[in-house]
Amino acid sequence: MVTASESGSGVLQGTPVVTGVAFGPALIVRGEVSAEAVERFGAGPFADAEAALAAYDGAAGAVADGFTRKADKAVGAAAEVLTASAGLARDKGLRGAVRKHLNTGSSLVASVHDAVEQFVEIFTQMGGLMAERATDLRDIERRIVAHVIGEPEPGVQLPEVPSVLVAEDLAPSDTAGLDPAVVLALVTERGGPTSHTAIIARQLGIPCVVGTPGCLDLPVGLDVLVDGTAGTITSGVDPAEAATRVAADKEMRAASASWSGPGQTADGTAVKILANVADGASARGAASAPVQGVGLFRTELCFLDQKEEPTVEEQADIYAEVLSAFSEVGYVVIRTLDAGSDKPVAFATHVGEENPALGVRGLRLSFDNPGLMDRQLDAIALAAERTGTETWVMAPMVATVAEAADFAAKVRTRGLKAGVMVEVPSAALLAHRMLEVVDFLSIGTNDLTQYTMAADRMATDLAHLTDPWQPAVLQLIAITAEAGKQAGKPVGICGEAAADPLLACALVGMGITSLSMAAKAVKPVGAQLSLVGMDACEDAAEAALSAADPMAGRAGVRAVLGL
Ligand code: PEP
Ligand code: MG
Repeated sequence: MVTASESGSGVLQGTPVVTGVAFGPALIVRGEVSAEAVERFGAGPFADAEAALAAYDGAAGAVADGFTRKADKAVGAAAEVLTASAGLARDKGLRGAVRKHLNTGSSLVASVHDAVEQFVEIFTQMGGLMAERATDLRDIERRIVAHVIGEPEPGVQLPEVPSVLVAEDLAPSDTAGLDPAVVLALVTERGGPTSHTAIIARQLGIPCVVGTPGCLDLPVGLDVLVDGTAGTITSGVDPAEAATRVAADKEMRAASASWSGPGQTADGTAVKILANVADGASARGAASAPVQGVGLFRTELCFLDQKEEPTVEEQADIYAEVLSAFSEVGYVVIRTLDAGSDKPVAFATHVGEENPALGVRGLRLSFDNPGLMDRQLDAIALAAERTGTETWVMAPMVATVAEAADFAAKVRTRGLKAGVMVEVPSAALLAHRMLEVVDFLSIGTNDLTQYTMAADRMATDLAHLTDPWQPAVLQLIAITAEAGKQAGKPVGICGEAAADPLLACALVGMGITSLSMAAKAVKPVGAQLSLVGMDACEDAAEAALSAADPMAGRAGVRAVLGL
């Protein structure tokens, strides 16, 4: 890695998460409240702990209101994370912890800090998505402290001229209000491919590079060229050359915006382009994109805030909403509950596991609670019958052929097509035997990467490992795809890897038959595939599989595809 020098020229390398090219001045975001102001404030003017708690209430309320106002202006995932942050700022447990610390004689600022750290520790121990909330909590602490000491809330102020936002890591509250007209690209020092920053950048459609060591040392205002495909931040680029690169990127984006499907390579090999959905609303949105169906309906997301298991009838209504959005358009792959680990569902999850990512999650929940699976399958069958939509059903976290066979039998007795997800390396290694007992496989690259590399998918410090371009992960995908070719059965991808236009070409070259992704990614992926012949896809697969590491894999595939 070459770091940016004072002379202003150099290349920084990070993990590319959203494609695109942007050029503009670096705006370095520092998310801290001024330490001197905190020191000057000291214990503050409060007569007693109750007075300090009242000040806390005012500050926390103001912070929560701020989040709510931003949420009202945002949509989709951005609105959801902001609403969640508002809830966290108003959390009674957090307030209780602050009160406890105040009652021991701590200052308000110290009490807020200690209470937040207490919660951060709990969330971190829970792992997964909950651990990701540590960033949100620390963001809330900074904002509350700013209100207490009378400073403006820290974080991103929208730039006056279009700029590249550079930060250590962005909290959801920072990224959610961003306007792509003035924020040209996002670059962070920490954060992985599944971080909030990546999700929001994808939604906004702006280039994004995460996990970029040294980016905070870039001089403020220095012009940088961000390449969201290569993961590079280059300074010292000739402005005319940069303008050409940006214009070429714009042209490519415009071409991809007009892609209308169906998915196929330049020489006509069909590749189904499908959508990932979470509920009826997202399914209706996805149905207007050029997709041939849904490749992953994450049913557990419908129940994250439900204490009791919904009845079969109630579940059938929810599933039917998604199925009916696609009754004219294609088929829908419904995944049975993937509760547990990063997606706790009150009525299903086993609490208190030491290592929930390796515990009783997904299909494993049915081991001691088969009724949970049976009722869900009954509800799915009911919804399929009512809507007439072609319905495939798959189970998450399958590790053995016996599990796959047992699940398939249950699905088939209800007249539906049965498959399993390949998320555990054992399932990839035995893909040929899995395919003897199921109709299709769908590779969940997010978890397959996590379990192959033994790296928590949410760990912001392990972005280089939680990367589906890791050759070991690609090798498992290739084994699975080859098994599909030999069995003559479909093998798709429904993890984030499918949304990467470059990787998509290599995956198709391995024999993958469908790619399922967030609706936003459909056009760039479909358009890229339509430009590349099957021979080039096979060469791309070879280049990615034989690369020494993810960066070399990306470079190799770009070279093969002439990008
Ligand atoms: C995956 O693991 O790749 C997947 C699609 O499932 P989820 O992201 O919901 O765990
Ligand atoms: Mg998964």
